Amino acid sequence: MFLSRRQFLGFSALTGAGLLMPKESMAIAGKFATIIDLTRCDGCKDELTAKCVSACREYNKDRYPEPVKPIQTYWPRKNYEDWSEKRGKIDTLTPYNWIFIQKVSINEEDFHIPRRCMHCDNPPCVRGCPFGALTKQPEGNSVINDSLCFGGAKCRDVCPWSIPQRQAGVGLYLKLMPKYAGGGVMYKCDLCKNRIRVGKEPACVSACKGRLGDNSAMLFGERMTIYSMASKRSKEEGLYIYGDKQNGGTSTLYLSKIPFESIEKAITEKKDRIPMSVNIESKIEKDINPLGKLVLGSSILSIVGGIAYAMNRNKGGNDKDE
Ligand code: SF4
Ligand code: SF4
Ligand code: SF4
Repeated sequence: MFLSRRQFLGFSALTGAGLLMPKESMAIAGKFATIIDLTRCDGCKDELTAKCVSACREYNKDRYPEPVKPIQTYWPRKNYEDWSEKRGKIDTLTPYNWIFIQKVSINEEDFHIPRRCMHCDNPPCVRGCPFGALTKQPEGNSVINDSLCFGGAKCRDVCPWSIPQRQAGVGLYLKLMPKYAGGGVMYKCDLCKNRIRVGKEPACVSACKGRLGDNSAMLFGERMTIYSMASKRSKEEGLYIYGDKQNGGTSTLYLSKIPFESIEKAITEKKDRIPMSVNIESKIEKDINPLGKLVLGSSILSIVGGIAYAMNRNKGGNDKDE
């Protein structure tokens, strides 16, 4: 995603006036939703890489970050997050891997849990970003604009599942104050925004369907239909649902034959960095510093530097149209 110069000037003016902060009332449930049925997912045990994971990586590869090296540390931190030498890593979320198969063993039975952004109905990542770099789309997906992100990771801090992942050495801050501002850019699943906008399914869903046909572990469609289908299967097959209530509701419904409390416990015991808590309170109100909103939202530096960046950057960016 990349703003034209005119769009960016408009953005800067709005930001300077403090008008662009995402408001709670702007949140919408969205048009689409997904079922991820854990009773059908076997983690693609006969494949080297799960089909959904390889489909996502293939579809999004042109959007993965190419950091400028050597990467600078930035004040006051001493460390930065660089995944660029671990692009092949598929057992967790990274800026180069937006879905992974989380594996847990419960009572000697293995469970495979495809994990990616839940696309919350009222996403704290969207509301929490001081620069308005995240938006909630009418389709229901939350999307990071990599041209506006400073990599401060507030979106990850407020996400109950720690979904967005940071890559240093890329992004707007390099044009401003590489040693003192920003930490890179955050990346995550955007629900294949350009595919769903034109009526196609996300790449991971198509890949799972291609392998399992009518027994696909992933189903994508109109939100009402997906919610009804999940509720029907839950009643008929005695399955537990996850994602309908967590964090105020999401566009992603997991189905499982075992309670999600057991899955949460197994993931916690593994100390996996991507949790799956059942009882999730909104972290947003206590985590957002009102001063931070004001100062960051109206930063003159961001306006001047952003304009320079928008003017200098090659047209087209790294976004992909369908
Ligand atoms: S969701 Fe489908 S494609 Fe992905 S690991 Fe499970 S079975 Fe394989
Ligand atoms: S799961 Fe996390 S990153 Fe995704 S929309 Fe919800 S808060 Fe944002
Ligand atoms: S919806 Fe698209 S971006 Fe998200 S995990 Fe699936 S393939 Fe990747």
